[in-house]
Amino acid sequence: MADGGFYLRFRGVRGSIAAPGPDTARYGGNTPCLEVRCGPHLLIVDAGTGLRAFGDELLKEQPLDADILLTHTHYDHIVGLPFFAPAYQGCNRFTLWEGHLGPDMPLEEALREFMSAPLFPVPLNIIESNLRFSKFQAGDTLTPRPGVTVRTAPLNHPNNATGYRIEYGGRSLCIITDTEHPAEGRDPRVLALVRGADVMIYDATYTDEEYGRRIGWGHSTWQEALRLADAAGVGQVYLFHHDPGRSDGDLDAIGAAAAARRPGTLVAVEGSTVTLI
Ligand SMILES: [Zn+2]
Ligand SMILES: [Zn+2]
Repeated sequence: MADGGFYLRFRGVRGSIAAPGPDTARYGGNTPCLEVRCGPHLLIVDAGTGLRAFGDELLKEQPLDADILLTHTHYDHIVGLPFFAPAYQGCNRFTLWEGHLGPDMPLEEALREFMSAPLFPVPLNIIESNLRFSKFQAGDTLTPRPGVTVRTAPLNHPNNATGYRIEYGGRSLCIITDTEHPAEGRDPRVLALVRGADVMIYDATYTDEEYGRRIGWGHSTWQEALRLADAAGVGQVYLFHHDPGRSDGDLDAIGAAAAARRPGTLVAVEGSTVTLI
């Protein structure tokens, strides 16, 4: 593993369902997966379809001991897990963190149901010995590895979700997906979590114009990302969880409009890297 620096690599940026094809080739069609390196430590945020190809690359770093932080367990955020090759190698260990299911629903139970006949041929118990399940309550502060602090907050999403703020070496990275903003003002829990962050990755599934027809679906807009960033004094914003219907051209236009309104704003591109240290 790389043993210096604090950086993030987008392994999947698409929301809801994978959207491969010529119209999405530049921004990428894989669903959410983020590689976060904090010095020698590897944190993976979400296990969408982007986890598969990333896992194949990780085989050369074995043995692995890494944390997988789930924002929530909707399919687009976990469907890559059964295709994560390192999980099938006995030398590796992964701690799966989850703060949205509540005390009565163990994550392993949810995953067991997801990986069961007739929906899926490989049962969870094939990989279970390499997995450790770590439940918390959204709002808790975690210290998964020495020097790494992960603050969390509950998000407004059907069946719940967790926002993360990863701090390492005096820098901070926030991942806020999937979430719906309030009709008035900012969500105080999200505002507090992202305050003063160096980088914020935010659910920009819709535009403000589209949002009126999507109230209650649990997602936000690129304009809200900028309002939140301004209110909280966030540094760099990355628009994330792109609607599967957005073409590369659509995202170019959104990126141009967002950067005109808040200079420096970028649209997350699969494969690109954000360096914090
Ligand atoms: Zn999603
Ligand atoms: Zn969701």
